[in-house]
Amino acid sequence: MHIPSLIEKKRDGGSLEVAEIAELIAAYAAGEVPDYQMSAFAMAVFFRGMSDGEISALTAAMRDSGRVFRWPEGSPPKVDKHSTGGIGDKVSLVLAPLLACDSLWVPMVSGRGLGITGGTLDKLESVPGFNVHLDEAACLRQIEKIGVFMAGQTEDFCPADKRLYALRDVTATVPSRPLIIASIMSKKLAESLDRLVLDVKFGSGAFMKTREDAELLAAGLAAAGLGNGVRTSFLLSPMDEPLGRTVGNALEVREAVETLQGNGPDDLVSITLDLAAAVSDSPRDVLAQRLRDGSAWRKFLALVEAQGGDPRAFENWGQFHPAPVIRPLPAPKDGVIAKMDAGRIGMAAVQLGAGRHKADDAINHAVGFSDIRKIGARISKGEPLLMIHAATDADADAAARAVDIEVR
Ligand code: URA
Repeated sequence: MHIPSLIEKKRDGGSLEVAEIAELIAAYAAGEVPDYQMSAFAMAVFFRGMSDGEISALTAAMRDSGRVFRWPEGSPPKVDKHSTGGIGDKVSLVLAPLLACDSLWVPMVSGRGLGITGGTLDKLESVPGFNVHLDEAACLRQIEKIGVFMAGQTEDFCPADKRLYALRDVTATVPSRPLIIASIMSKKLAESLDRLVLDVKFGSGAFMKTREDAELLAAGLAAAGLGNGVRTSFLLSPMDEPLGRTVGNALEVREAVETLQGNGPDDLVSITLDLAAAVSDSPRDVLAQRLRDGSAWRKFLALVEAQGGDPRAFENWGQFHPAPVIRPLPAPKDGVIAKMDAGRIGMAAVQLGAGRHKADDAINHAVGFSDIRKIGARISKGEPLLMIHAATDADADAAARAVDIEVR
């Protein structure tokens, strides 16, 4: 295969054969195609797009670049959800244990933060001792025991996606519909699921800025799932303000724990139940009951213990990653919160240290925002619009300037 000719074909708007895509991805996963050629290919796809057939071939090639889960004969239905990423989106932390209260298996392979959106693995790692590096045998042992695991991609799980995802992040090729579909669905298909629900977000804090673009992406993702025998459904959800009242790793875990204990904010509870009901055997009211009666919370504790985490971390919130500087952002006047920009809040959280600029940056679990008031809330002059959790006073000042919340 002559890689420059293949890049040229896509650059000029041509359609690639299934075999060409399969060969390119296999060679890339084997280290035979350098990153500079793959970057050029990704940019050609970004501008020229792909047909449904090409997307399907790319998804299958990325799935088959590594091992796929093989579940024991007769095991319970395997279910999962995927969110296209938002600000303050801690749904997975609540939904995975909630679903595992049913006799379902939840093999959740999650990612790290990308751009301004947070990642489930980073959040889980704020729990002392929590190990997200499970091999396939450990995943199987744990799911047989408690019905759920939450782990990162291993080296041999969709390795082509792992490399391409990191490359896209630094070559401005993340927001490409074919590349997003193949990336997300290759990983979900490698989990060998029976049912999948997708939370496709749109708005200032999402990859997709408009509902129309989100609809197109959702349709493409669902087609890739259904075409591969997975019962796939989706929700479209707005991301103009953060989900819940916190943004930042440990702060979000804390809010997820409150939700698992039956005290979650309405928007987080509602979307979690909608998504869970789409793949569960139980109706929504039974799932809601499991958040109130402690069943989902007990399952979460079992999950934390199974993966080496210390559940005592949740006993004293004051000790749970306190940031050196915690201070309010006061409302400038009396009024109603008219508008905020989730994207700016996400970017401000990254600047505080909650996210990364480069793939190997360390993150600060303690920093971010809490007590975020919602759009439509009445507020008096001087009352906190939110609380800033920062490493230094200078960081807190910068965050206060970056967050743009309009009171009218
Ligand atoms: N999440 C993924 O897994 N891949 C993408 O391309 C975007 C979001």
